[in-house]
Amino acid sequence: MNPEKILVSACLAGIPCRYDGTARTVPLLEELYRNGLAVPVCPETAGGLPVPRKPSEIRDGRVYHNDGTDVTDAFIRGSAECMRICTENRCMKAVLKAKSPACGKGIIYSGDFSGTLCEGNGIFAQMLADNGIEVMTEEEACLR
Ligand code: SF4
Repeated sequence: MNPEKILVSACLAGIPCRYDGTARTVPLLEELYRNGLAVPVCPETAGGLPVPRKPSEIRDGRVYHNDGTDVTDAFIRGSAECMRICTENRCMKAVLKAKSPACGKGIIYSGDFSGTLCEGNGIFAQMLADNGIEVMTEEEACLR
């Protein structure tokens, strides 16, 4: 029986896929990835958004770049693809990047690009939770 793999936000595993072209590497998650025990996914790039890209936030259930472009469809498309990868790898737990409009869980930015936080989940984190996957942020996992 293979050990259960965990799903991780790709930027936490050392992959520079954030909007500004950087990673937010958590050494333990990067090590798990390199040893084949973590599956990295990035819903934003999986939906076709480039690196680098404009930052995004959720407002009234839609996702917008800071120039007002509606990128909801890309977020949903990318989240569905990452959900497929999750299922394919039989992952039941995910460690996702806190506060992201795709990966954030519980707390995200409020949608006006002012740095204000509010309650809510990112598009992908919500999709995982709706499909019975246990989601935690890297902060909840005490990896920060
Ligand atoms: Fe990281 Fe998720 Fe944002 Fe991709 S969508 S850069 S994995 S937080």
